[in-house]
Amino acid sequence: MKPHAAFLGLGAIGRPMAGHLARAYDLSVWNRTAARAEEFARATGARAAATPRDAATGAAVVLTCLPTSAEVEALLEGPDGILAGVPEGALFLDCTSGDPESAGRIARKLEARGVAFADCPVSGGTNGAEAGTLTVMVGADGPTFERARPVLAAFGKRIEHLGPVGAGSALKAINNALLATNILAFGEGFSGLAKAGVPVRKALEVLNASSGRSFVTEGLVPDRVLTGAFPNTFRLALLEKDVGIAVRFLESQGVQSPVLHRVAELFRIARRELGEGADYLEAIRLQERRSGVEIRG
Ligand code: NDP
Repeated sequence: MKPHAAFLGLGAIGRPMAGHLARAYDLSVWNRTAARAEEFARATGARAAATPRDAATGAAVVLTCLPTSAEVEALLEGPDGILAGVPEGALFLDCTSGDPESAGRIARKLEARGVAFADCPVSGGTNGAEAGTLTVMVGADGPTFERARPVLAAFGKRIEHLGPVGAGSALKAINNALLATNILAFGEGFSGLAKAGVPVRKALEVLNASSGRSFVTEGLVPDRVLTGAFPNTFRLALLEKDVGIAVRFLESQGVQSPVLHRVAELFRIARRELGEGADYLEAIRLQERRSGVEIRG
């Protein structure tokens, strides 16, 4: 018989992650919009739970993948919350890109109920989630990490223990702050090149053989920006949240961050202008509009 697991949060990245778990576990899923959980259950054979409590009841492992730590904390509480169902001795893995402080609070709350906790944010995007090749950044004590590793291997390829609870969230926030910085810097630089009449695809190829290249210029721009495709894979609102977490984390460490403060501010403005549904690379389209140019080729 397969062990019982629960997965809460079937969003853009949570759904394909849960899809891998459905093969290895007797899986219960819960989603705020119940129709998504029901559709997932029909497609995979998992069970759609009526409440977070129902999902967590009897589960050896509970996984969450929600927008922010605030939603995770909220789902723990109340008569229908996770804490009301999760059995003592279970393992709780939060794959949300959350914040280190909340991770500590959640861990303490669960520990008081005999439940081990790890923050396990992921990197690799929806493609990586579909392929089961995500990088997982884990914050936990050693024994909890060893328990978590085989579960995370269902959707992760590189699974790394970064330190105690909160360490995974801290690295993820810094990673995404650098991603956000590269997006904006690319948009500025290539708006200028496009305006000057430099052929942008050729310029990108040369850049990608040079020292200014990044994941943005190699992995995202060719198929999503130069083509004008801009698919929806990761909400800009979530990246804005991540840069905010990074800046607050750096403040908590007494590290000055004038560059990332500015990036955070620019993403706050972009979120306000583009709304909650916009994809993260729409930040480049906003720069294009302001510059009166399109980076296509
Ligand atoms: P989505 O916005 O696509 O999905 C969010 C999920 O959270 C949905 O299941 C949504 O339910 C649920 N949700 C939203 N608000 C609440 C609430 N108040 N109470 C309960 N459930 C709620 O996000 P993603 O799947 O893209 O991202 C999830 C996490 O993973 C985020 O922390 C993000 O930063 C991170 N991440 C995302 C990546 C990506 O490429 N998309 C890559 C790496 C990390 P409903 O269906 O009802 O809306």
